[in-house]
Amino acid sequence: MDYLSKLNREQKEAAMYTEGPLLILAGAGSGKTSTMTHRIAYMIDEKGVDPYNILAVTFTNKAAREMRDRVEALVGHGLPSWILTFHSACLRILRAHAEVLGYGRDFTVYDPTDQKTLVKNIIKELGIDGKRFTPSYFLGIISKCKEQRITWQEYPRVYGDDIKAEMAGKVYAAYEKTLKKNNAMDFDDLLLNAVRLFEQDEAVLLEYQNRFRYIMVDEYQDTNRIQYLFIKMLAEAHNNICVVGDDDQCIYQWRGADIRNILEFEKDFKGVKTIKLEQNYRSTSTILDAAHSVISNNRGRKAKKLWTDKEPGNKIIYYRADDERDEAYFVAGEINRMKSSDRKYSDFAILYRTNSQSRTFEEALSRRDIPYRVLGGLRYYDRKEIKDIMCYLRLIQNKSDDLALARIINEPKRGIGGKTLDKLRSLASVRGESLFDTLTDREVTSSFSSKVSANIESFVDMVESYSAEKDNMKISDLYDGVLVKSGYLRALEEQSAAGQAMLEAESRMENLMEFKSVIYDYEEEDPNISLSEFMERIALLAEVDNHDAGENAVVMMTMHSAKGLEFPFVFMPGMEDGLFPGWRAFDRPEGLEEERRLCYVGITRAKERLWLTSAQQRTIYGKTDYTRESQFLRELDKKLLEGDAIYEKKKTDAGRGAFTDGITKSKSLKPFDQLKYARQQTKKNVEALSSDLAPGDAVSHPKFGEGQVISCDGKIVAVKFGDETKKLALGFAPLKKL
Ligand code: ATP
Ligand code: MG
Repeated sequence: MDYLSKLNREQKEAAMYTEGPLLILAGAGSGKTSTMTHRIAYMIDEKGVDPYNILAVTFTNKAAREMRDRVEALVGHGLPSWILTFHSACLRILRAHAEVLGYGRDFTVYDPTDQKTLVKNIIKELGIDGKRFTPSYFLGIISKCKEQRITWQEYPRVYGDDIKAEMAGKVYAAYEKTLKKNNAMDFDDLLLNAVRLFEQDEAVLLEYQNRFRYIMVDEYQDTNRIQYLFIKMLAEAHNNICVVGDDDQCIYQWRGADIRNILEFEKDFKGVKTIKLEQNYRSTSTILDAAHSVISNNRGRKAKKLWTDKEPGNKIIYYRADDERDEAYFVAGEINRMKSSDRKYSDFAILYRTNSQSRTFEEALSRRDIPYRVLGGLRYYDRKEIKDIMCYLRLIQNKSDDLALARIINEPKRGIGGKTLDKLRSLASVRGESLFDTLTDREVTSSFSSKVSANIESFVDMVESYSAEKDNMKISDLYDGVLVKSGYLRALEEQSAAGQAMLEAESRMENLMEFKSVIYDYEEEDPNISLSEFMERIALLAEVDNHDAGENAVVMMTMHSAKGLEFPFVFMPGMEDGLFPGWRAFDRPEGLEEERRLCYVGITRAKERLWLTSAQQRTIYGKTDYTRESQFLRELDKKLLEGDAIYEKKKTDAGRGAFTDGITKSKSLKPFDQLKYARQQTKKNVEALSSDLAPGDAVSHPKFGEGQVISCDGKIVAVKFGDETKKLALGFAPLKKL
């Protein structure tokens, strides 16, 4: 009972209120997650609840693991085994009952990369213009449909028959059929199928309702319709459900999160008790005030304000860099400056809007020898060799997985090229069997050259024998066996010995060895782990998962991934209109408010200090543009800022710099800033100059000399210098009109 004494009055009340529906609605850093972990501990220790009867769900693996660790630290024994993400909870249930829905229990889970490959194949098969319509386009539509429970059969009825809809409907249908045929589910299916399972089989539903007498959900504001149904169905029997969340932190509406789930919780369950937490324990009052001044611009929100008894702390530093490199160097410099006062690198986080922003920071940090980790981006598990080897394991686990087979049948080379594979595919489809089954047919393989058919035979033998033995082998042994018997390792060794792409081959081998240590880790944790469990854990690794707070490195990730986490020092770069808020936010009516909530999430990750930066000029996807400071910066209470914001930008420059209070620019600028200012002015002049060029104009260029404009096409101007024609970027090339 001692640990409850650390909680404040409201937190304690919430922790001890264990029977009946409970809503904890509170702002960032107010101890929602802490209260929940204490509540679990209290139930087990004081109320004698069997941990077996507890289900606690959250969004990321990282959050789930942290919750488990915290509960374990409190109770020390009898840890509930169902403290999980939504996806893992659904997966566990489906593993046990997949046959109800017509799947085999060994079904495979397709991650986003697999989904893309699958849709790419479909696009090709259907003869769709892949340049105009990308896999992501269709996957977006498919995911939307699944969220709204629109099946491919219903799709045409809902979306009509214009050409685009018809095409998407065909892709959706093919996608679903292939998944089913491959005995596979995507991430959306996990949730959807769990709900379908409960709907179709009452006995199964009853079993889980009886088991989970106490249900808890963290970050409830981000649940979508399907997650909501899942929880609601489970909780109906006992009505002991506790959800915690913050309507100001709902950042997944674009993925179907429905803020109404939290706002209408009181209607959905009878006799709800609502507890609000108002004290923030995470951040200084300056940081809290900043967060508040931004979020209070949202109209659709319940008014609330957090307070803290912490000191105001340092002001928020704002820096307007020249360009994204300058921005990154500034951040690296600040980390070095702060680091000297005996802080760990892992106390620093760089939280950006999009993954593509990470590259310049990686460069800047490595130049200064600052260790860092990037979460998200190209995941370790997305590397080619790891994917390949995982596909071997997948095929061994589920021989109907055509996607896995297609990836590795010629990896290493076995003489099965794209054309042969296409033929095999059509044959398999005519016969209504899997690719693997087709390959086992001697009549089919005998039509190949004797060398190729021998290769296939040994491939088939390998898969079959490991498939039969998989439950009697350790995964690490299976892994070694596959690496050798498949010829994969030998191919890399030969490549390396022959000096072809030697470095690449070696780094692949290293990664494969590293992967073995991953397997060892899992085996150590659970010596009896089965192949399917192992594959699942890997498939469900969310991007935030690699985040190990113990490692002494600066972490970089998107603001989305940082939900629920906290760091002493936080940098939020790219505070520019168009990037944050992103242009796409304006496509949806609610979009801007959602971006603002994301900004609130970002700011409230900081415990002690916060830096905001923007760049005057930024290159995105090869296109360089001047930027305007983010609307969110303008909304921020200026009293809380120091740095560039206190300089007045010239009035004529008002479109770009929106800060007008402070000192007059030209008089009070320090030498460094004067230099910067002068550079901006030249850039501007150049822009003004070259933007009114027309064909026929005579121009001069400092390097190429005098020339004549041939054409102006959007942002590109073609100029003939002597007998050479150059294409130059309008607005950036230092061209002078003569
Ligand atoms: P978020 O909305 O970001 O998920 P949260 O409401 O879940 O935040 P927690 O992560 O649980 O907040 O807590 C934030 C910080 O405050 C943690 O460092 C936690 O240890 C601390 N904290 C919570 N409650 C108390 C308390 N009663 N006394 C002291 N510290 C507390
Ligand atoms: Mg939390």
